[in-house]
Amino acid sequence: MYSIEQRDEQLVGTTAAIRYHCYFDRAAEHLLRVRMEVDTNGTEDVLRLVLPSWAPGSYKIRDFVAHVGNLGVRDERGRQLDVEWGAKNVVCVRPNGARTLTVEYVFYANERTVRTMHITRWRAFLFPVNCLFYVEGRMHEIHHVLLYYDRDKWQTLTTALSPVCTTNEAVVLGALNYDILADSPTEIGNHQVRRFDAWGARHEVALIAPLPLDADWLAEQCKTIVLTEGAVFGGVPYDRYVFFVYAGANLSGGLEHARCSVNMCDVAALTDPVKSKSLLALLCHEYFHVWNVKRIRPRSYGPFDYTREVYSPMLWLAEGFTSYYDDLFAYRAGFYTQEEYLDLLAREHLGKLLHVPGRHAMSVRQSSYLAWVKLYAQSPDGQNRFPSYYLKGGVLALLLDLAIIAETEGQCRLDDVVRLLWHHYNQRPSEGVSEEEVLSAIEQVSSARVREQFWQWLDSTDDPDIAAAFAPFGIEWSVRPAERTSAIEPLPRFVGVQVKSDAGRLWVASVEEGSPASRAGIATDDEIIAVGGVRVSTVDEFERAVRTMNQPVTVTASCDGKLYEAVLDVPVSHQYFLRFRPVLSDSEHRRAQRWLERSVVG
Ligand SMILES: [Zn+2]
Repeated sequence: MYSIEQRDEQLVGTTAAIRYHCYFDRAAEHLLRVRMEVDTNGTEDVLRLVLPSWAPGSYKIRDFVAHVGNLGVRDERGRQLDVEWGAKNVVCVRPNGARTLTVEYVFYANERTVRTMHITRWRAFLFPVNCLFYVEGRMHEIHHVLLYYDRDKWQTLTTALSPVCTTNEAVVLGALNYDILADSPTEIGNHQVRRFDAWGARHEVALIAPLPLDADWLAEQCKTIVLTEGAVFGGVPYDRYVFFVYAGANLSGGLEHARCSVNMCDVAALTDPVKSKSLLALLCHEYFHVWNVKRIRPRSYGPFDYTREVYSPMLWLAEGFTSYYDDLFAYRAGFYTQEEYLDLLAREHLGKLLHVPGRHAMSVRQSSYLAWVKLYAQSPDGQNRFPSYYLKGGVLALLLDLAIIAETEGQCRLDDVVRLLWHHYNQRPSEGVSEEEVLSAIEQVSSARVREQFWQWLDSTDDPDIAAAFAPFGIEWSVRPAERTSAIEPLPRFVGVQVKSDAGRLWVASVEEGSPASRAGIATDDEIIAVGGVRVSTVDEFERAVRTMNQPVTVTASCDGKLYEAVLDVPVSHQYFLRFRPVLSDSEHRRAQRWLERSVVG
C-alpha cells in the first residue's frame, strides 16, 4: 500500500535491512561517498538496484545516475562481486549466497537547485531521490541513512527524515519506505533554525544564507502561513514540518514534499519589503502542496515509477489550484491589501495569460500531460505553443471559485471542493484522485452547470469570459491603454520581445507570436543593434528608445551575422484592472465579501 505518512516516533530505535552510510569527508570536492548495505535472505538470484531518473514535483528526466561514479559491490567478507548494468540507472548484482551486499560509489553534488544536490566545504544538501538507489521489490521496507560528518565543524542538521538514534560515529535517520526516503531532504552545516508549534505539530524553519539574515522574521511569516492554510482544513496532517529556505545570488524556485518544502530566493527577498512578497507567495505555494499534490494527488502521482515519465492531464489541479491559492493565502495572511491583491490578479495572472499566444494552441490539460517536453523543456518559443498549467490553471481556479460563489450565493466556494477532495484522501490515502472525482466534487458543492463550464475551460483553447465571471461581484475587468503616471515619463509600448544583454550586446530572448516584433520579422537570437538609428546595448536603452521614438520606428538588427532593418508600429501597452464599481447591490457586496473574506472556517 502506497503511503507517504510518517511520524517521528515510528522510527525511533528501529532497525533496517537497507542502510545508506553517507560520508562527507570529500565535501570540498562536492562529493558524497555512499556505502549502501543490503541484507539479503541468502537465496536471491539477482538483486536490481535502481537510481531514480527524476524527482517527483519536477517533471523532467534528469538522469541523476550521470553523477554516480567508482561503483563497486562486495559481499560481507569483502569479496568483490561482478556488477552488470541492466540499464543506464540499474545495477544488477548476483549475491551468490552473500548475506549482506555492500555497494560503494561517489556522487557528484554540485547543482544548487531545489531538485538537485549541492555539497560544498561549508554545508551539504542531501536529497535522497538524487543519490540513493532503491532495491527493486523492497521499496516498502524501512530504510536507514547514517550520516558521518565532523559535528564540531557542522553543528546543525535539519531533516524531514525521522531520527532513529545517534552514535559516536553517525547520526542515524530513517524512513518507513523508499517513497518517504526519496521525498525527505536533509541540510547539514551551520545554518539558522527557528522552531514553532501550531495545530499541535512542530515546525522548523531552516535559513541557509551567506549573510546573517532575519530568521525570526521568516519564522513569524511561516507561522502565519501555517495558521492561515491550516484553517481551511481545521489542522495539519503531519507531526513535524520543515521550511527549508535558501537565500543567495541567482537562486529561485521551490519544491514540495510531504513533510517539508525547499524554497530558494534572492537575498533581497529577506531584506526588501517589496521583494519579500514573492518569497511569501512561494512559501504559501509550496506549503499548500502539503494537501494539494502530496496527498490530494492525481492517480498517477504515487506510487511513482521513478525510472520514466509519469503522465497526467491534471496539473491544472496540482499546480493550477496551488497557483491560485498561493496569492489568495498571501492575501488572507495579510501580506497584501485587498487592492494589491486585485491588482496582482489583474496584472500577474489574467493580464499575463493574455500575452501567452500558446493558450490558443493547446488546452491546459494537454499542456499538463506534455509537461515533460513543454513546460520543463524551456524553449523560447514555448509561450507561443502551449499555456503554462500554473498560469492558466490558476486563472481557471480563480474563475471556478467565483462561479461557485455566484452559483451558490456564497453558500460554498472552492475551499469546499478542496475539503471534499481532502476527505476523499483521508478515506483512501493510497489511491489518488481522478479527474472525474474532482469534477463530481465541483458539482456536489455547486451545480452541473458549473461543472460543465469548468470542464469546457479545461478542455478548450478559447479564452474564458473574464468580465462575466467578475460581474456578479460588482467588479469590473478592464483592459486599457497605459496612461502617463508622470509628465516626464514616456508611455510604455508593446513590442512583444524579451531582450537580454550579454557582453555589451543586446539579444532577442523570445518573441510573442502576433506581436509587432513578430509581424516585423524579428526573431529569437537575433541581435538588436539600434532603434531609430540610435545604438542600444542594454535592456534599459532598448526600452527607453522604443518609448521615446516617433512611430513607426526602425530597428536595426542582425541575424546570422548579416544586418537587416525591421519597421515596427508599436502601440501603447495595455494595462489590466480589476476595480469595484462605485455602487454595489447588496448581493454583489455579499458575494464580494465572501470571496475576499480573510478568516476561513474549515
Ligand atoms: Zn507547485
